[in-house]
Amino acid sequence: MSAGTDAGVVIVGAGQAGGRVALQLAQRGHPGPVTLIGAESLPPYERPPLSKEMLADPSHPLPVLVPAEEYERLGIALRLGRRATAIDRNRQQVTLDDGSSLPYGRLVLATGGRPRQLPFSLERLQVLRTVDDVRAIAARAETATSVLVIGGGVIGLEVAATLRKRGLAVTVVEVGSRLLGRNFPEPVAAVIAERHAAEGVVLRTGVRIRSVHEDAGGLHATLSDGSTVTADFAVAGIGITPDTALAQECGLVTDDGVVVDADMRSSDPAILAVGDMAAIPGPDGRPMRCETWQNANVTAERAVATILGEAIPPGEASWFWTDQYDLNVQLTGDTMVGGPDRGLNGGRVVEQSATVAGGRLYLMLEGDRLVGAAAINAGRDMSVCRRLVASGAVLPAAMLEAGRFDARAARGLLTPSPASARQVDA
Ligand SMILES: Cc1cc2nc3c(=O)[nH]c(=O)nc-3n(C[C@H](O)[C@H](O)[C@H](O)COP(=O)(O)OP(=O)(O)OC[C@H]3O[C@@H](n4cnc5c(N)ncnc54)[C@H](O)[C@@H]3O)c2cc1C
Repeated sequence: MSAGTDAGVVIVGAGQAGGRVALQLAQRGHPGPVTLIGAESLPPYERPPLSKEMLADPSHPLPVLVPAEEYERLGIALRLGRRATAIDRNRQQVTLDDGSSLPYGRLVLATGGRPRQLPFSLERLQVLRTVDDVRAIAARAETATSVLVIGGGVIGLEVAATLRKRGLAVTVVEVGSRLLGRNFPEPVAAVIAERHAAEGVVLRTGVRIRSVHEDAGGLHATLSDGSTVTADFAVAGIGITPDTALAQECGLVTDDGVVVDADMRSSDPAILAVGDMAAIPGPDGRPMRCETWQNANVTAERAVATILGEAIPPGEASWFWTDQYDLNVQLTGDTMVGGPDRGLNGGRVVEQSATVAGGRLYLMLEGDRLVGAAAINAGRDMSVCRRLVASGAVLPAAMLEAGRFDARAARGLLTPSPASARQVDA
């Protein structure tokens, strides 16, 4: 029996990743106690619907992983509305904000992240991370006619799309020279920008907020180019800061997030980290954090395998999606290939129409090897691309030169056989 299966597992952070660790341990027969501590008062839920379905309609059901009773049925001790305040690594115990402490055989940190704050605080300024946040924004949207969205990244643009559909006048202010500059390839970001503009969203890129004040008439921002924006309220979506305070205070190695190996072990092998706050080994071996639904699940699955002493599941290509208006955009692998700061030689992007009418695919290549892909309304093609990227597939010239993605031929590349090779060449 591996260390930790006979002693208790304590999980700090009852979000998507922490919830998945607890559920999988219990479902797969972990023999010791499993305790899940969560600062929010709700059982673990998934966040993607918050900026989409729930903001459109706050009566949308809470996207819980499983109903609360399921934790009890599985014997998981849920400590909700409780915050862990300290970790004593020598005694292997965690202290909670009610003064109690819990011993652990294995500790899993799953504390996610907090929205980055602007250097000013205003009554009319919201952020979006939790169900409480989405309810507050939705309540404002009930009576508001206009909103200022600060940050042209994924969360900001999803909020912009959803509130625009609710009829609000929307202005987006982005300090970068274009929208989605952190991880979306330029042509894909351009399609999304065009769509927002067509819906009537005012997009202001390359400007920052110089000053802002609020009064009974609303919130008034002066931008760095001297122009002004007035809105009933603002939503800031400028990224998150990983919640690593506990880890840092007890001396774990951190580098943006808590540094872990491929088995999710931190610098203290009794402590694992998962989800948004874990800095996992990236393709170049350097620690990198990944703030996605898929990463929360994959890292949870890996941590569970480590705790149960099982083989670590094979790697997958990274994957992310966003929904804005009727655009479903999905990214996999390295989507910034050839970008100015990537230093990749020979990186190029090949654009093709998707197998589904109206969909577009963007294939990112190093030489002829597919290292990443982006899909607009082409989910089925994306599932093939994810497997191609994970397998490091080299795409034949004929496939790259065709203006349309050939999903059947591409699938053939995944099962190397004389028959599939013939299909590709045809
Ligand atoms: C609005 C929104 C939309 C998103 N949409 C998408 C999408 O479309 N596609 C996609 O791939 N990803 C999306 N994501 C990202 C995805 O939801 C996150 O990557 C995922 O939630 C990360 O899970 P996590 O468990 O690491 O962190 P979280 O879900 O943030 O959970 C961390 C939990 O730990 C708790 N906690 C923190 N400190 C303590 C403490 N000391 N003691 C106890 N509890 C503590 C927090 O309160 C929180 O509940 C979205 C995120 C947001 C916010």
